[in-house]
Amino acid sequence: MKRRLMDFLACAMCKSYPLELYVFEEKDGEIVSGLLVCPNQECRMWYPIIEEIPHCLPPELRSEKEDLEFLRKWKEKIPEKVLREGRPFNLSKEG
Ligand SMILES: [Zn+2]
Repeated sequence: MKRRLMDFLACAMCKSYPLELYVFEEKDGEIVSGLLVCPNQECRMWYPIIEEIPHCLPPELRSEKEDLEFLRKWKEKIPEKVLREGRPFNLSKEG
C-alpha cells in the first residue's frame, strides 16, 4: 500500500483516525508488510498489512490462527503493547 492511503484508513471498530503505522518491509514506494494500530487505548485493535494489502477487518471476519501467525512472524518489530494487549488477538499467553 502507498503511505498516502493512511489518509483514508480508520479503525474498523471505533473509527479512530489516523491509525499508527509500523513499516516492516517497503519496496518501490509500497509498504509490503507492516502493522496498523488503533490510537484509541480503549480499543487497541491492530490490523496487518500483508503483501501490500491492509486488512482492516473487524474481529468477526478475522482468523485467530492467521493473526497469531502474523504476530509471531514479526514479533521483533511489533510494539510490546500490541504483542501483550492488542485486540482482537495477542501473544500474552505465550510469555
Ligand atoms: Zn479502534
